[in-house]
Amino acid sequence: MTVHVPFDNSYARLPEAFYRRVLPTPVAMPQLIKVNEGLARTLGIDPSALATPEGVEVLAGLRIAQGAEPLAMAYAGHQFGQFVPQLGDGRAILLGEVVDRDGNRRDIQLKGSGPTPFSRRGDGRAAMGPVLREYLVSEAMAALGVPTTRALAAVSTGEPVYRETALPGAVLTRVASSHIRVGTFQFFAARGDTDSTRLLVDHVLERHYPALRGAANPAIALLEGVIARQAALVAQWLGIGFIHGVMNTDNMSVAGETIDYGPCAFMDAYDPKTVFSSIDQFGRYAYANQPAIAQWNLARLAECLLPLFSDNEDEAVEIAKAVLAGFAGQFNDAYVAVLRRKLGLVEAREDDLALAQDLLDRMTANTADLTLVFRKLCDAALGPEHDGPVRGLFIDPTAFDAWATTWRARLAAEGGDASARREAMRAASPAIIPRNHRVEAMIEAAVERQDYAPFEEMLEAVTRPYDDRPAFAQYEEPPPADQRVYRTFCGT
Ligand code: AMP
Ligand code: MG
Repeated sequence: MTVHVPFDNSYARLPEAFYRRVLPTPVAMPQLIKVNEGLARTLGIDPSALATPEGVEVLAGLRIAQGAEPLAMAYAGHQFGQFVPQLGDGRAILLGEVVDRDGNRRDIQLKGSGPTPFSRRGDGRAAMGPVLREYLVSEAMAALGVPTTRALAAVSTGEPVYRETALPGAVLTRVASSHIRVGTFQFFAARGDTDSTRLLVDHVLERHYPALRGAANPAIALLEGVIARQAALVAQWLGIGFIHGVMNTDNMSVAGETIDYGPCAFMDAYDPKTVFSSIDQFGRYAYANQPAIAQWNLARLAECLLPLFSDNEDEAVEIAKAVLAGFAGQFNDAYVAVLRRKLGLVEAREDDLALAQDLLDRMTANTADLTLVFRKLCDAALGPEHDGPVRGLFIDPTAFDAWATTWRARLAAEGGDASARREAMRAASPAIIPRNHRVEAMIEAAVERQDYAPFEEMLEAVTRPYDDRPAFAQYEEPPPADQRVYRTFCGT
């Protein structure tokens, strides 16, 4: 059975400055860990073909499927605020694009497939832990309804990669609307290459913002489009307690998808200051900083587009400022909308944010678990006699009671059916997120004992996050004190 991938490549048609053509480097003994069957079908690929020895060779980079045009994309980026004029795919290779069953163009990329001209001092490889983390968390995000890159497959390479210690290597096959980043624009802007910037604007509009194609100024339309999607995305992150961990401009997709899962993590107890990443020493990418960082990154995108806004520099800067000023309001609206759904509110009222903030503050003061509070709050919508489980999550349960009085007055003012409200709230607040202690245990089983059962089980749990399934109840639980995770590592 040959692996047929219906490639239809567009990035490879762009000029040579956009990428370097490079083949994956073969590995010793590839073995399949997982194929995402549903996603494969959506892409027009037969999942059983991917599981054959030939399919595994394709997923490991030993064999190039017909129609693939492997390349490493060029990009730059601000890493923790410092500009690096050349980064690029150092351990990822874009095989090509397919137009999926829904008519959406999507990249298929190998991550961990060997060195490229952009590898700098890196080995071009990925360790199994981060590959499994990205597979699981990106699929969880998709199931949670958050725009994200997806995982099509994971294979082990049979070769060690050397980090602090020798670790088993793996390759992730990643699917994205595209892998074009804010940093891709920065790559050309840093070189003063306005023609390439213009081409990239057209490519991105065509691909990700077709409705904006006819705009009087395509670059302004693009900035507005990316701002809108990033504002909505970060609002969704906050609603589920997601902390990306490395929101460098090279890790921000212009398609508005969550991308480049490194030391990302979900918070358990609600605390806006939460930082997990070991490399984020100053908390630049802390939970509550994410909207401000998104805006900062978008300002970097705007800078790249200045020459396309206007021939007059001052006017271009004024345009950029005016468009960027829209971010705060859009984020705020999206965030309040997320919170409203979690509180069971349909109508928009002035005090909604204050009401939600009051609850969040009480949660912080009482080290209450974000996911559990909002999930148990769904039941409390039925009436105060159902408050037990949620109020019990607060060190001082009366802190919840005081808030609930105001909440109930607000619900009463709005009216509506209680059980319908409960259902709507349950669709806005998951029971299951990929909790860090579970992720770590899953990785340890795979890496230390070649035991993929925890990965399989957890993947099943996190990909139906809104269902209460007794068999997966343990995935709802926060970590016991001795299993709390305080630091995560990108392990690249
Ligand atoms: P990341 O922080 O993983 O998004 O990566 C930042 C930059 O470092 C990108 O240009 C990556 O391609 C590159 N990079 C990360 N890990 C490796 C590696 N093991 N080998 C080569 N390049 C890498
Ligand atoms: Mg990256």
